[in-house]
Amino acid sequence: MKRVLLKLSGEALAGDKKTGFDEATCIGVAKQVKQLVDDGMQVAIVTGGGNFWRGRTSETIDRTKADQIGMLATVMNCIYVSDIFRHVGMKTEVFTPFVCGAFTTLFSKDSALKALDEGKVIFFAGGTGHPYFSTDTGAVLRAIEIEADTMLLAKAIDGIYDSDPKVNPEAKKYDELSIQDIIDQKLAAIDLTASILCLENKMPMLVFGLNEENSIVNTVSGKFNGTKVTV
Ligand code: UDP
Repeated sequence: MKRVLLKLSGEALAGDKKTGFDEATCIGVAKQVKQLVDDGMQVAIVTGGGNFWRGRTSETIDRTKADQIGMLATVMNCIYVSDIFRHVGMKTEVFTPFVCGAFTTLFSKDSALKALDEGKVIFFAGGTGHPYFSTDTGAVLRAIEIEADTMLLAKAIDGIYDSDPKVNPEAKKYDELSIQDIIDQKLAAIDLTASILCLENKMPMLVFGLNEENSIVNTVSGKFNGTKVTV
């Protein structure tokens, strides 16, 4: 693997606090990504926004407006996490699909690839820039655009299960399954739009728990304890 896209769910960024940021978790992520970068890997990051806001959970305001707030939540997440990355010694750049003034750079494939070639860890904030999509879909889209070798999906749980392990203690974890299985079994690991995009563009995924010690580095170096998703 030479180039990966790491998707961090918003929930995972919050650690045990469930909302906002857990600094120790984010520093832990940054130190692991630094190891990958120091070993010559190009890394792009997408964060979710669920630690602040999810558009679909608001029952009062208009969905488009609610989703805009969700997209802005992911911008806050990326600005925070990218600065933690700088704190541990990496160069970073945050891209958005809409203008955020001087806070971020407007996304284009060319400028993103240039930043990777300059040794920066790049962040794709703001999802797809459109309502009714998720950051999972934004992550798959950007992974395809930058021609990543694989997507790394770091989650609050350690892989893909046949049912929710928080609800069903008998839930079974998969070591490996295909995108088609995820679609057929309607598994909640990644949303349907994102799954279809992965399927059509043959983008594989490694799904693992962010809370497990050194899990990002372990996943990349083959000591993998999560679920491998084949195309
Ligand atoms: N969102 C959106 N379009 C996108 C990506 C995200 O409208 O392309 C909004 C949507 O409201 C979503 C929120 O941003 O609920 C946060 O993203 P997501 O729920 O994917 O975060 P996660 O659940 O992975 O933490």
